[in-house]
Amino acid sequence: MRRLRTKIAIVGAGPSGLYLSHELRGHGIDSVMVERCSREHLERRVRAGLLEEGTVRLLRASGLGSKLDKEGLVHDGFQLRFENNLHRISTASLIGEPTYIYGQQEVVKDLLAARPLDDETLYFDAEDVRLGGITSDNPCVAFTVGPDRVLVEADFIAGCDGYHGVSRPSIPASTLTFHSRRYPFNWIGMLVSAAPFASELVYSVHPGGFALQSMRTPEISRLYLQTDARDELSDWPETRIWDELGRRLYVDMSETRARGAILEQVMVPLRATVTEPMRYGRLFLVGDAAHIFPPTAAKGLNVALEDSSALARALIAWYDRGQGDLLEGYSAARLRSVWRAQDFSSWLTWLFHPAADASAFDYNLRTASLARLAEAGSTAVAFADEYVGYSRRR
Ligand SMILES: Cc1cc2nc3c(=O)[nH]c(=O)nc-3n(C[C@H](O)[C@H](O)[C@H](O)COP(=O)(O)OP(=O)(O)OC[C@H]3O[C@@H](n4cnc5c(N)ncnc54)[C@H](O)[C@@H]3O)c2cc1C
Repeated sequence: MRRLRTKIAIVGAGPSGLYLSHELRGHGIDSVMVERCSREHLERRVRAGLLEEGTVRLLRASGLGSKLDKEGLVHDGFQLRFENNLHRISTASLIGEPTYIYGQQEVVKDLLAARPLDDETLYFDAEDVRLGGITSDNPCVAFTVGPDRVLVEADFIAGCDGYHGVSRPSIPASTLTFHSRRYPFNWIGMLVSAAPFASELVYSVHPGGFALQSMRTPEISRLYLQTDARDELSDWPETRIWDELGRRLYVDMSETRARGAILEQVMVPLRATVTEPMRYGRLFLVGDAAHIFPPTAAKGLNVALEDSSALARALIAWYDRGQGDLLEGYSAARLRSVWRAQDFSSWLTWLFHPAADASAFDYNLRTASLARLAEAGSTAVAFADEYVGYSRRR
């Protein structure tokens, strides 16, 4: 067995793990990362795309802003369609902040590119990853890469390994509260090689269900369609998806040319989870390892990077100044933000998704709520505050 010693062992090289390691390295705090997938897979994995102003500021302050500022799309607002009317909601006018479109895989590529060329502290393709000694002063992570079994001993472990990772299950279940909600909807998400039909996001609440037009670049569209939670992808042949998208977004998608080639198609279950507390002994849970959001309000990546930033600050205070209060307060402080983002995500999910059995009463209530948002009054200001994440930064 090969033995290594570091300050922080980081499990998972998604955005939250990579960002944490990047911040720590900038302050001279060494870490070792272990990731079960290949680098190529991480760089190709398409997920989130909407960055809040706070996230963009974090990335710029860490020296990761140049490609983002060149290639990212700045959106001063978005379009909201209901009752066959289109309304523009300008977050820039309402509260002075835009949002940004920049793919999660680009953030991951930027973080990987910022690592030293002779980097020997990030292990890809790791198997049989196990955590040990979490409640001792000498926690460790063991894993296999190629023919080698490697043991990393550390001062702390950061569990950045997502919802299906090994960190959360390494904590005795009796010490955790695991909250979860499954919404009665799925999304079909498609990445399409075609220019978006509108230059901003279009959220459409149609009696037949919700649809969203988003994008990754001026040439690549991202389209989402609400389905029933029991549906499988096989229930949705391509023609059914295009017909339904066209109907709900009020766009003629009957022409094959208008559709573009489908680059990727996924079925995303809408669910929410929160694990409390986000710390056990010397293990800290970060990002999706601790919480999942329904994608409606695009909070997952933004809150994950906030967690990383908060943990980095706490570890820097510990190593530079011997202060432990931020580490002690990490879980409680992060959970306040997480629940705030869950509250908004939940509210928006119910508002945007008509249930299959919704009554006329439900329909009219939803329309009245949407109309209040479109009026640019105090409801719209409060909404914009949560949408761009400003409320969590106050
Ligand atoms: C289809 C889809 C669409 C989404 N759309 C949006 C969106 O529009 N906006 C938004 O904000 N969020 C969105 N999200 C959520 C967002 O992608 C996540 O919140 C974000 O990826 C969280 O980052 P993370 O680093 O915490 O976790 P992850 O990105 O999940 O990274 C965890 C890493 O840990 C690795 N890992 C797992 N198990 C192990 C193990 N045992 N050992 C070592 N490594 C391990 C994984 O391979 C992965 O690289 C979406 C998610 C999905 C699935």
